[in-house]
Amino acid sequence: MSATPVLMPEATIGILGGGQLGRMLALAAARLGFRCHAFAPDADSCAFEVMQQSTCAAYDDRAALARFAESVDVITYEFENIPAETAAFLAARRPVVPDPSVLAKTQDRLVEKNFIQDLGIATAPFVSVESAAGLAKAVSAVGLPAVLKTRRLGYDGKGQKMIGPKDDPAAAWAALHKVPCILEGFVPFEREISVVAARGRGGEVECFDVAENEHSNHILKTSRVPAAISHDLAVEARRITETIADAFDYVGVLAVEMFVVGQGSGPAVLVNEIAPRVHNSGHWSIDGCSVSQFEQHIRAVAGWQLAKPVRHGNAEMINLIGTEVNDYARWLGEPGVAVHLYGKTGPHPGRKMGHVTRIGSSGAKD
Ligand code: AMP
Repeated sequence: MSATPVLMPEATIGILGGGQLGRMLALAAARLGFRCHAFAPDADSCAFEVMQQSTCAAYDDRAALARFAESVDVITYEFENIPAETAAFLAARRPVVPDPSVLAKTQDRLVEKNFIQDLGIATAPFVSVESAAGLAKAVSAVGLPAVLKTRRLGYDGKGQKMIGPKDDPAAAWAALHKVPCILEGFVPFEREISVVAARGRGGEVECFDVAENEHSNHILKTSRVPAAISHDLAVEARRITETIADAFDYVGVLAVEMFVVGQGSGPAVLVNEIAPRVHNSGHWSIDGCSVSQFEQHIRAVAGWQLAKPVRHGNAEMINLIGTEVNDYARWLGEPGVAVHLYGKTGPHPGRKMGHVTRIGSSGAKD
C-alpha cells in the first residue's frame, strides 16, 4: 500500500472486531468527526450499535473483506487474533494500522517472549513445549510451580494451566489439548501493572500513567491509577513500553502488562504480555484524563498529532463482569463515578459487560 494519508474529519475508519473496545473507539472517533465501519463475525457484536456501518461476516470471507476495504480510508483493529491472511488481504487494499507484522509477533506467546527478550527486557523464564518429552525437559528447566500457556489464542486466563509441585504436568498439557505451549516459571509478583501508550506516525510516544491491576479468576477486575510504585519504577515501566513500541515502529495505542517483583538481585519489572490495541487497563482515561486511550488511538491512526495526557485525579476502574452489570443502578448516584454499559444482551457469565470509573480521592488509593 502507498503511504497512509492524513485523514480529514468525515473520513471512515474500518475497525476489525466487534467488542466493547471497538464500541469505545467508535464513540471517540465520532467526537472527532470520523465515521466508523466495523467488521466482525458475531451477529450480536456490541460495537455494531454505534457504527455508521457494520459488516457481519467471517474473517475469511474475501468478498465481504474486499467490500469493507473499499468502504473505508484506513483499517485498524480492536482484537489481535485477526488471522494473518485477513490482515494481509486487507493491507493489499487499504492501509492497515498498526502494521499487520505486529500481529505476527504478538499472536504467538513464544515469538512474543523471544522478541521481548531480544530487546534486553526481562520476562519470566520460559521454555517452548511441543511434545511430552519437551514438557518433561521444560519442567526440569523452569521448575514448579509454573504456568503452562498455549502459544496461541489465550486471553483472560483461557489457554493456561497452573502446575503446582504436586500436579502432573502431563495432565495439564492434556487439558490444553496438547497444542504447542510455553511453560513459564510462576512469578511471585508483588503487584501487576500496565502501561498504555500511544505512538504517532512520527515516532512520538505519549504514555498514560502506570496502572495497577487486580485480577479475579484471571479476568481484570480493577485498575488503579497511579500505581503504588516508586517514581523510578514508573519511569522504567514507561521506558520499557517505549522501547517495545519503537521496535515495532508501532502506530496507535498498545499496552504492556508487567509483573513487579521484589527488589533484590533480580530485575524489578518483568514483562508478561503485549496487547497491540487499546486495553482494559486504560478505560479509566475516558473519564479520568484530558484525552482517552481511544481518542489517542484514533488520532494516531488518522495521522493526527497525539494529545499530551493530563490526569484529572486518582482513578479507579472496576469491571462489571457477568451478572454484576445488573447492579449498575447502584453506581449512578455515587460521587465521582462514571458508568459505562456495553449493551451486550443475554446472560454472559464471566464476560465484561461494563465498567465504572471513580475519579477523585474517594476509594482511589494514592
Ligand atoms: P496472561 O494471559 O499471560 O495475561 O495471564 C493472565 C494472568 O494470569 C496474569 O495477569 C497473572 O495474574 C496470571 N499469570 C500469568 N502468568 C503468570 C506467571 N508466570 N506467574 C504468575 N502469575 C501469572
